[in-house]
Formats: sequence, structure tokens, C-alpha cells
Amino acid sequence: MNKLAVVLAFAIAARTAAAQIAADVLIAGGTVYDGSGGPGRVIDVALRGDRIIFVGDAKAGRVSAPRTIEATGLIVAPGFIDPHTHTQPDLSSPARRANLAYIMQGVTTVVTNNDGSGPVGVGALLARWDSTGIGTNALLFVPHGSVRGDVMGMSDKAPSPAQLQQMKSLVERGMREGAFGMSTGLYYAPGSYSTTEEVIELAKVAAAHGGIYDTHQRDESSYTIGLLASVAEVLRIAHEAKIPVHFSHIKALGADVWGEADTVISMIHAAQREGLIVAACQYPYDASGTSLVSALVPRWAEVGGRDSLVARIASPATHARLLAEMRDNLRRRGGAGAMLITNSRQRDLEGKRLDAVAAARSVEPVEAAMQIIRTAGDLSVASFNMNAKDIDTFMRADFVTTCSDGSDGHPRKFGTFPKKIRDYVLDRPVITMERAIQAGSSQVARDLHIAQRGALEAGWFADVIVFDPKTIRDLATYAEPERLATGMKYVFVNGRLAVDGGKPTNALAGKALRLGK
Ligand SMILES: [Zn+2]
Repeated sequence: MNKLAVVLAFAIAARTAAAQIAADVLIAGGTVYDGSGGPGRVIDVALRGDRIIFVGDAKAGRVSAPRTIEATGLIVAPGFIDPHTHTQPDLSSPARRANLAYIMQGVTTVVTNNDGSGPVGVGALLARWDSTGIGTNALLFVPHGSVRGDVMGMSDKAPSPAQLQQMKSLVERGMREGAFGMSTGLYYAPGSYSTTEEVIELAKVAAAHGGIYDTHQRDESSYTIGLLASVAEVLRIAHEAKIPVHFSHIKALGADVWGEADTVISMIHAAQREGLIVAACQYPYDASGTSLVSALVPRWAEVGGRDSLVARIASPATHARLLAEMRDNLRRRGGAGAMLITNSRQRDLEGKRLDAVAAARSVEPVEAAMQIIRTAGDLSVASFNMNAKDIDTFMRADFVTTCSDGSDGHPRKFGTFPKKIRDYVLDRPVITMERAIQAGSSQVARDLHIAQRGALEAGWFADVIVFDPKTIRDLATYAEPERLATGMKYVFVNGRLAVDGGKPTNALAGKALRLGK
């Protein structure tokens, strides 16, 4: 060997040695779905610090790690991202901030402040989570209903120019403090009191900061303008405010609109062809979760707030009109047998259907509901109002992702993601595993502008899950809504184990996320 050859051989050896990759953890031999929607591949994933550093053949890539997770027969995927939750109180509570309801589903990032409700002070909330620690990553929307409530109370009037300016400033502040956009609940009071034009003006502020518009639309049923006109309203907002829009928990609510899923999908596809950015999410349950007031009481009766509502129930001048409209609203939702009380200040009501409560009181169901509202206040209900065909149709649509809309008393908070995989991929294949994983991860990250999460890519954050397709399932039911899901073996949040060997570690490895950072 001449001198040059020796130098070359040495250089090659040095390069090969340098190519050895030192990881903290190697997840070996699992079936990897990287979030892109492509099929699973038997490869390895390596993590170091808070990042994924390698995806591929670990042997060929000379990856070594002090800990190896043997994942043969298991599925390795990006941690799920849930674009619609009500976890703000959980993440802010010392007892619940590890967010196990979600961690045990494989959810590593939650979005909250949806439906236009929640704290207006985005920056303060994010800073609090920075300091206390949280179990999952979390991000916020500026909640339009709360913004309106802060400025105008429970008024159903249009804002004055000064009031509109105040609302714009609050949205602007939330966006500067790191919100990912503005959420609305135009079905609920006080969001329902705003016109499309008001919403457009405020959505423009979110758009100027790169945010999206997330909405519980004005009507998912036949309450006011109807499902299709409501979809058209969202698309108009997208067009006029020049903002990407996201339909929360898309559905056809009630027999009046069953079968309209196909029409909704064609309207959205047409809007996309015209260049609008439109997305949606869905939970895999046939019951929605809401409150008795929201489900049955017309919004005009809520103007002025709770005391005004109670007075309208009591007043002979308004009682009859309320009775008639509430009967119709109950009919829309499938009648008193389709309304289950899930969470109540009056324990004896919990787990009962409204027809049974009414029978026990010897009054008609709507009178029973009014009695409850007057005496116990509002309470949570599960309202069985969707049909299986519409749920399947929406789930197959290419723009529909997964969200829980998790609320206390409804099993979706503890079960959504495993249930979708168990019921709609494994037991009755409505969609494929790769599609379910994509719809729970990378697609949500893209829709919401979440950077470097939602896919298994070298250099991205190490939010990674490992689950057993044989045992993954939801256990939460309407009777026992807080049973943790099973099947998650390992859950990494920013590279730290939140579930290890199937057991939660209670790690607070999540980060409060800010748009663009
Ligand atoms: Zn909602």
C-alpha cells in the first residue's frame, strides 16, 4: 500500500466510524407508519434528546443506543394531535395536568379554547403551563365567544365601531401571544349573536398573523339557517377573510339533515378547487356532547344571561313560545329517549335519559328540562343524533381528520383515537390504518400550522407512539366515561416517556406551543 492509499483508507475508516449514530432510545423492528399516509414499513426509529434522529434500518445506519425497545408486531407512529379538546381546565389543574385521558390514547398534542370559549388571555395561560409543566403539548385559539362576552356581555346587538375595535384588539393580542388562530362557537350564545360580517372582520385579524379560523359552525342541523347554509357561511368567511378554515366535529345532526354528508363534502371540495383552504375534524361517536341549555333552549331566550333565561321560563308571556321551540329542538335531536344526562350537579339525574326523568316527575320531557334548568342549572348531556352512514361518509373524506371534542361525561374524551382504530380500521374497515394515522397526525399539523410535529422525520420533535394493534381499544362508555384506553405501550412526548411498558409515568414533558415558534 502506498502512502496515498494508506491516507485514503484511514479517511474512509474515520468516516465510517463517524457515521455511527449515538441515540438515547432505539425503537427496533416495529411496523412504522410515518404519518405521510404511506403504508407501514418494518424499520427502526431512533431518538436523542427531544428529537427523532433516525428513521430506517438501524443496523445499516450504525445506530446504537443504551435502550432498545423491541417493537416487533407493534405499530410505531407519530403521536396523535387532537385539534379540538376541552382540556384547558385539566392542563391547569395540579391533579390532571399529566393529561392521562389523552396520553393513554397516544395523543401527544392537544388544541384547546375551541368553540369560541375559554380564557381570552392566551399569553398568561401559555406562560402558566410553561412554569407548571403539562403532560401533552398544548396550543390555543383566541376564543371569539369569550372575546365578545368580555366586550359586550350576553347582548345580542351588533357591536358599535368602538366595540368592534376592542374585539379586534383582543384577537390581535391573542395572536401576538402565540394563538394558532381564532375559534368560534356560532351555535352557542353569545357567539350566535354575531353576524357573518362581524366574524369576517375578526377573522381578518387572525389571518394577518398567519392563524386559521376554527369553528363550531352556526348550525349543524335544522335549528336556524340549516346545515348547508351554515357550511356556506364558513366558506364565505374563508373567502372574504382570506383565512384557512377548519370545521370542528363535522356532522349531520338530527334526522332533518341525515344524508346531507355527501352534499357538505361536495361543497367543500368545490371550495377547495377554487383555492380556499378548508379542513375538518370528526369524532367517531353517534352522540354529541353538549349541555341541556345548548341543546334545547333557543338562543333568544339566553339573551342577557342565566337570570334572564330563568325569568323567561317562569313568565307566562314567554313560557308557551319556549315550550313549543324546545319541543321542536328535542324532536330534532331524536326525542327524550335520545338525550342522556351525563354530568350533573344533581347526582340522582346522572346516567338517566330525559324520558325517564320526565316520567318520574309526571311531566312532559321539555317541562322536566325547564325544571332542571331552573333548579339545578345547566348540565351535560350526550345527545344521540347522528347516523352511521353519515359518520362513515365524513370519515372517508380526504379533508377530515380526527378530534375528540372531549368533554366530561362523554366517553370520547378517553376513547376517540383508539376507538377509531378499533372500530373503523380493525373491526370494520372503513378506512386504512395508514389513513387513520395520517388523519390523526401529519394532516392535523398541516391544517393548524404546527411545525415539526405529526410525522416521523429525522430532525423533528420526538412525539412518538408504539401500540399493539391486537389490544388497542377504548374502554370508556357512557356509564363509565373515564376509563383509560388500552393498547399504548410506549408514548414519547418531546423524547421523554409518558407511557412506559403500557403504564403512565405522569411525566410533564409537554410544551406550550406558540404559532411560528
Ligand atoms: Zn363544539
